[in-house]
Amino acid sequence: MEDTTIHEIDFALINEYFTALERQGPGSREQTIKALGFLEHLSDTTKIADLGCGTGYQTMVLAQNTEATITTLDLYAGSIDRLLATAEHLGFKNRIQGVVGSMDALPFRQEEFDVIWSEGAIANIGFEKGLQYWRNFLKKDGYIAVTYESWFTETRPEEIEAWWHDAVPEITTIGHNIILMQQAGYVPVAAFALPEQCWTDHYFVPQQARQEEFLKQYPGNKSVENMIAFLRREAKLYEQYKQYYGYVFYIGRKI
Ligand code: SAH
Repeated sequence: MEDTTIHEIDFALINEYFTALERQGPGSREQTIKALGFLEHLSDTTKIADLGCGTGYQTMVLAQNTEATITTLDLYAGSIDRLLATAEHLGFKNRIQGVVGSMDALPFRQEEFDVIWSEGAIANIGFEKGLQYWRNFLKKDGYIAVTYESWFTETRPEEIEAWWHDAVPEITTIGHNIILMQQAGYVPVAAFALPEQCWTDHYFVPQQARQEEFLKQYPGNKSVENMIAFLRREAKLYEQYKQYYGYVFYIGRKI
């Protein structure tokens, strides 16, 4: 069971599991607001794209803390449905749109956006490729703000190195990612690591009850059991090796 990798987990299954949760990746309201604080010249004409938005926890934080119009995009229709229901409930229906689509084939115009936001999702296209490709859809001087798994140290114990090498083969250090951002045509504006609570309180803890519920919902289902074993191992490894890695917010301005 410990051999299950992220790539073997069924996309529909993992989305069904995660869409019942507020977030699908580490992060928090406070850290989204902190990142937003680095962006200048936001107004009611600002257009933000939120890529790999999931059920839109960070989208609502962006809507509450700006006057911008936000176009969200995710590959999973169930997440977009839930996001739009939340947007309507919070009174943001006129400022938030939802698109089902892939982040590597964006259905947008060149230079359409002032801001591209993406929390916990850029690894699906690759950090370097995402920065390069998404740049086409940003206006000059527009901002990119993404969170991405990163090493905190130059060397790591083998167990955690192997885990991340499988999940995110391109994972590298913060310093190297900043260079990649610069090479992709952005002025690096800020990079900061998300605090531990973004993983524990906002990601792993809410999953515990969901895991019990999911196992009960699918008794004897091997795919479900393997997926839950994978997610539990992810949490255990974090506890053991958190000094070596984390999510980092990278913010850049298009040159
Ligand atoms: N931003 C949210 C969700 C992060 S999880 C949060 O921080 O809570 C990553 C999200 O990326 C999932 O919702 C998944 O469906 C989506 N995703 C994965 N591959 C994608 C792709 N190729 N294009 C668009 N979205 C994708």
